[in-house]
Amino acid sequence: RERAGRWLITGGAGFIGSNFLHLIFHEGPRPERAVTLDKLAYAGRKENLAGLPDEGAHQFVQGEIGDQPLVGRLLRENRVEGVIHFAAETHVDRSIESAQPFVETNVVGSWRLLEAAWNYWRELPREARERFRFLHVSTDEVYGSIGLEEEPTREGAPYDPSSPYAASKAASDHFVRAYAKTFGFPAMVTHCSNNYGPRQFPEKMIPLMILNLFEGKPLPIYGDGSNRRDWIYVEDHCRALREVLLRGKPGETYHIGSGSGCSNRELVEQLCVLADEIRPRASGRSYRDLITYVTDRPGHDFRYAVDSGKIRRELGWKPRETLEDGLRKTIDWYRENGEWCERIRRDGFARERLGLLRG
Ligand code: NAD
Repeated sequence: RERAGRWLITGGAGFIGSNFLHLIFHEGPRPERAVTLDKLAYAGRKENLAGLPDEGAHQFVQGEIGDQPLVGRLLRENRVEGVIHFAAETHVDRSIESAQPFVETNVVGSWRLLEAAWNYWRELPREARERFRFLHVSTDEVYGSIGLEEEPTREGAPYDPSSPYAASKAASDHFVRAYAKTFGFPAMVTHCSNNYGPRQFPEKMIPLMILNLFEGKPLPIYGDGSNRRDWIYVEDHCRALREVLLRGKPGETYHIGSGSGCSNRELVEQLCVLADEIRPRASGRSYRDLITYVTDRPGHDFRYAVDSGKIRRELGWKPRETLEDGLRKTIDWYRENGEWCERIRRDGFARERLGLLRG
């Protein structure tokens, strides 16, 4: 049953949130109303929402998730039936430099949003209360590192976060589950593996590598490149979230992953092979020559891998993209959207960081 037609989407101007909005408006089910609440922090960009319907079906509101009066008003005025909570500080390296914004947004901000949503929900008439959902979008990083021989992590595994980012997401996950258990608040939590695809801020590994590749700049890989991640194409993540929102069970947790892990070294090599084919270098040499190894990130988790059997069995979801096809689409998007990248550079957000990493 298609349940939630009037949604509040936090962090909708960021990478995954904007892909989610484009997916539901273009692939359906088209919401009756979607309100995006985003404060436009450095990774949030209004242009990420270009192409969505204008006021009416979609409304953009610039604001803080921690602003409870604002959140309460948006929920009431739009008679919201579901909240999808994407807004967060998301970059691990930044959380190592300073944890404060991570605590403020991911922990305190998420709690304030949750409290506002809970207050709204408990005043609703019974039928509307039963339809309501709160979907908290979390990460597999809360589980910490697993060994090469270990089975992928299942729902309910103990938390063991390594970075301040993962610790802040873990804290918010606990609050969401506590409200579900204590108050019967109809919340669900998803844990997804590393995403890639269009509109990802170029401080993250895959877009950083793609931009550096075509500018002939070094491709910096942490440590010896053996760290493993289970990369998922962002649209596959968004389709999984849509299924959870529409058909997931309140109080439940769902893992989302492609199940095709690879090391960072293998990933960058694959990007180089694709780039060699798409736009060979004038010198005739492979882009692989650009790979350089840099000092490892402190506390760098060796491997994340989630078992996504539950969502596949219960909700019939499975990823559509292979890593190769997803990477091809991503490379194409960054090649076709040079202006988007240029504007980020011109705006000076994270200029220092990009300058540093782009060597
Ligand atoms: P992003 O950094 O691209 O986007 C985050 C968005 O949140 C931005 O638009 C930003 O402006 C907004 N925001 C930040 N603080 C805010 C605040 N206080 N109030 C309102 N808006 C605020 O991040 P993303 O990669 O799209 O991640 C979205 C969510 O998915 C996060 O919760 C993240 O933890 C989770 N997640 C990400 C991945 C991944 O690989 N990127 C994997 C699993 C889960």
